Amino acid sequence: MKRVALIGRPLRRKHSEIMHNAAFAEYDIDAIYELRELDPGDIPRFVSEARGDGWLGFQVTAPYKRLIMDHLDEFEDAASRIGAVNSVVRREDGRLVGFNTDAPGFRRAVEAEFDIGLNGLRVAVAGAGGAARAVVQALTSAECDSVVVGNRTTSKAMALANEFGERVSGTDLGRAFEDALREADLAVNATTVGMVDSGAAFDVNELPSTAAVYDLVYTPAETALLERARRRGLRASNGLGMLIAQAEIAFERWTGVPNSGPVMLEALRSKAGE
Ligand code: NAP
Repeated sequence: MKRVALIGRPLRRKHSEIMHNAAFAEYDIDAIYELRELDPGDIPRFVSEARGDGWLGFQVTAPYKRLIMDHLDEFEDAASRIGAVNSVVRREDGRLVGFNTDAPGFRRAVEAEFDIGLNGLRVAVAGAGGAARAVVQALTSAECDSVVVGNRTTSKAMALANEFGERVSGTDLGRAFEDALREADLAVNATTVGMVDSGAAFDVNELPSTAAVYDLVYTPAETALLERARRRGLRASNGLGMLIAQAEIAFERWTGVPNSGPVMLEALRSKAGE
């Protein structure tokens, strides 16, 4: 039996384990996805274990998405621009290659959900943490028209904007961000607001009626932001599609099997109904 693991600390959510194990079962692949809650000191031992030929690769969540990069043999350009690896594939020679599935997962989910291309869009992104970096990478590589990043800690938004080039600007969540919302085709919540803190990271009433709202938060499924956006008649989606798309992308890299998303979604739905 082959093995994949998710490493992090703490590991509270079981979504990835449910999605990948359902896909392994569906496609008759003799493999298991398991959760490994590790201390930082356990990482080198884990990485050398994952070089073994019983492994397909592994996934990484907080707080190790950056730290893991020091232990890999290679990582892809997008992951290095984002500054975070959330997935690793083991090559046949045992070399470990890191990549990031959040950026392509975001793009795939938003384009499918709203039936749009990211290219040419004016986008307002709230947040400047790890997820926001993946979102901005996806947006800039898709040649969106402009991205305004608004963040509670303004210096982090400015630093992110500097790294990602002239299409991207950084500000606080005040007036300048509201101006960006007024012009936006797409507004993205990449903060933890709605999941950790209550309320909404920005005011949907600032958006034009044609705008779409994508909230990366998927628990709860309906945040205050989404509820307010829908009440205004805007197109709105939570981050479940991104979660599934990023898993689908990793699964294909490990197994060669594409389009496992529907199986993964069904597994999450039936688990939620239990
Ligand atoms: P992170 O690195 O910890 O960043 C958190 C961000 O939220 C920072 O920009 C932070 O601002 C901001 N923030 C926190 N509390 C705030 C508040 N009360 N008001 C305004 N801003 C606040 O977290 P992350 O990894 O980027 O994750 C962000 C969210 O995306 C999480 O909810 C996570 O579950 C979700 N996510 C979803 C997917 C998916 O597949 N759907 C993938 C990745 C992440 P400061 O810089 O000022 O602290």
